[in-house]
Amino acid sequence: MMSSFPMQVALMLGETITKVIPITFALAMVFTVLEHFWACNSTGPWWRKREIITDICYWFFVPVFARIFRIGLLVLGAAILFNIHEPDELIAFYDNGHGPLSELPLWVQALLFLVASDFMLYWLHRMFHGGGFWKYHAIHHSSEDLEWISAARFHPVNLFIGTILVDVILLIAGISPNIMLWVGPFTTFHSAFVHANLNWTLGPFKYVLATPVFHRWHHTSLEEGGNTNFAGTFPLWDILFGTYRMPENRLPDGYGVDDQEIPSEIGGQLAYPFRH
Ligand SMILES: [Zn+2]
Ligand SMILES: [Zn+2]
Repeated sequence: MMSSFPMQVALMLGETITKVIPITFALAMVFTVLEHFWACNSTGPWWRKREIITDICYWFFVPVFARIFRIGLLVLGAAILFNIHEPDELIAFYDNGHGPLSELPLWVQALLFLVASDFMLYWLHRMFHGGGFWKYHAIHHSSEDLEWISAARFHPVNLFIGTILVDVILLIAGISPNIMLWVGPFTTFHSAFVHANLNWTLGPFKYVLATPVFHRWHHTSLEEGGNTNFAGTFPLWDILFGTYRMPENRLPDGYGVDDQEIPSEIGGQLAYPFRH
């Protein structure tokens, strides 16, 4: 059966959005309740945040973009590195992973994936905070009201040389895509969680797992500590490499980019790095 490329993209778009809608409702309910009781900043309910429409656009656009580019890179990687071109061979190659990593129990592969990808993402995140890369990452930092729904606000270049590339490297290394059954929902929930307007530090677990307070410090201005807490999931990297910051008895406040004027709507934001 042959269907045209635009047709496939349209199908993928429909499929992805159908998946995203129920997840969005669930997250909206969870964070509405949690933020009501444990707000970090008294900015009101999340749906009243500034630039909510921009965030909603990214929220639905990013999973579709990520899926199309992940598949594209996986196909390209198999062709270049393993000389695999036939669709059947491709499916067999990625179905349950390949090589020694795929022999490990699935939970070990999932853990390995989380730790290895988080390590790579830590360094990529630091790279994006410097020199010529900052203009792409500044889009993520442009939310002045930081909310769970701001989690998806990433420029495609940032997504591509970040999440997507790291996922593809680990899948090409042999880890089974089946781990995504747990890892996928975990990362979706956790990234919304760290951006949520919550005053949670998780007590002693603040050294184990990134929390809303931990990541909200990362979103503050440079003088306040914006150049700290780069880890996505495990603060261990910040502790090891000297970028960990969790002031006692204080909560982060005041977010956004202070050195540049970033457009507030999605079109302007997507074009922004190419104009500067
Ligand atoms: Zn950052
Ligand atoms: Zn963030």
